[in-house]
Amino acid sequence: MMIDAHIHLDHYDEDDRKEILAKLAEHGVEALVAVSFDLPSCIKNRSSSLEDNRIHAAYGFHPEQDIPSIEEMDQLFSWMKEHIDEMVAVGEVGLPYYKKLESLVPLDYEPYIQLLDRFVAFAASSQKPIVLHAVYDDAQIACELLEKHGVTKAHFHWFKGDDIVVKRMVKNGYFISITPDCLYEDEIQQLIRKYPIEQMMIETDGPWPFEGPYTNQRTEPKMMVQSIEKIAELQARTIEETAKILYENTKKFYGI
Ligand SMILES: [Zn+2]
Repeated sequence: MMIDAHIHLDHYDEDDRKEILAKLAEHGVEALVAVSFDLPSCIKNRSSSLEDNRIHAAYGFHPEQDIPSIEEMDQLFSWMKEHIDEMVAVGEVGLPYYKKLESLVPLDYEPYIQLLDRFVAFAASSQKPIVLHAVYDDAQIACELLEKHGVTKAHFHWFKGDDIVVKRMVKNGYFISITPDCLYEDEIQQLIRKYPIEQMMIETDGPWPFEGPYTNQRTEPKMMVQSIEKIAELQARTIEETAKILYENTKKFYGI
């Protein structure tokens, strides 16, 4: 069995979402961690998780968008508090690496760092895992905040970064997850070779579209079969052993 450790289920069209959910068992997918983008997304994921016990909701605010008003964030945090027992994690939260790259004027990072600090503090006080979107240089900032608040259950989804931050994350016991781009991205393949499989999960980040063999295909959890095969090859393990470790890592990390 497989678990998709990071999917934006609420971002699929209703028909696609229904079709994907109907075929999960057939594709060997036991569960999904449905991360949220903002408060409306949290509300949607919450109702999906209450309707279908294979869906486990994480609540947060995706960093690759304009910084919200204080009122908006206060509203989100009090909603999260209210639904604390229904959430498996805080997420998706992090820092806007790609927004910064695309921005024509220098992006003020400080409000994003402060917001992430607030989410990390929330994860610490509620003893929930945290799902991070923090790549390259941003991963160091995330590590600092996690260390500051003593958070050890951190999942850096679709992680990319240098050896220095990899070392820090491995030492701190942080997890990463691998997306279907491991089939064709050399950078990700190199990461898989050096990151301990005991701290690894698999995900789709669906409906985000992939390239290579997946060009023009709808992203869905069944794609993780090929990811497992690739991870097994790069880690020089059997497919069965690899699948079992990744599955158990995710179950244990999210307590699902
Ligand atoms: Zn995501």
